[in-house]
Amino acid sequence: MANEIIPYLEMCAREALSLQRGMNFDLGRGYSVILMSLRPNAPYRDRLDDDGSTLTYEGHDSPRSEATPNPKEVDQPERTPSGSLTQNGKFFAAAAAYKRGEANPQLVKVYEKIHQGIWSYNGTFRLVDSWRERDWKRMVFKFKLVVAEDAETSANWPTEGSERRRLIPTPIKVEVWKRDRGRCVMCGAADELHFDHVLPYSRGGTSVTAENVQLLCARHNLSKGAKIV
Ligand SMILES: [Zn+2]
Repeated sequence: MANEIIPYLEMCAREALSLQRGMNFDLGRGYSVILMSLRPNAPYRDRLDDDGSTLTYEGHDSPRSEATPNPKEVDQPERTPSGSLTQNGKFFAAAAAYKRGEANPQLVKVYEKIHQGIWSYNGTFRLVDSWRERDWKRMVFKFKLVVAEDAETSANWPTEGSERRRLIPTPIKVEVWKRDRGRCVMCGAADELHFDHVLPYSRGGTSVTAENVQLLCARHNLSKGAKIV
């Protein structure tokens, strides 16, 4: 469920792999997984557009090695030294195939770091574009992902609700997490938390201010949903 808050280890267990890598193309279950961070000290320049429905994700650097002591100073690689596609190369090729009309867009589950060891599930996106651009003295990959409106039609996906989904901006998430001290505001539970809109989108609520967002546990999230008709 989008806006769910997940401890790092649980996120890894759910995706059945060690998510040491930020980019994980096609995990064999019909989707890819990327980890993003919009925090000020984040290593890559991921960007969310104004209305929160489009994500521009930066490709990843070469691993640091003897041959590449400063990965930030060299082009982000499309291929490994042995010639196979890197994660950048795989996502880039998938976006190119989609643009040529040869494939459906790759479905991508997006997780975002909001606190040490604490991640937020941002829901599913479609990879619709990719390009390379100059960043200071090197070339980096960029990937454009748009919110998947109907991903819940597949049995593999949790229900996202029918209203148009938008991401809650990162500073709001971080502020709400700190203000509510990582606990449900109703009962103090510290697990199965979600970011909840006090007044839902469907009734004119917003995610632009922290006042309209709060932490709720799964139980209180559900009981609230039942009351709002
Ligand atoms: Zn609760």
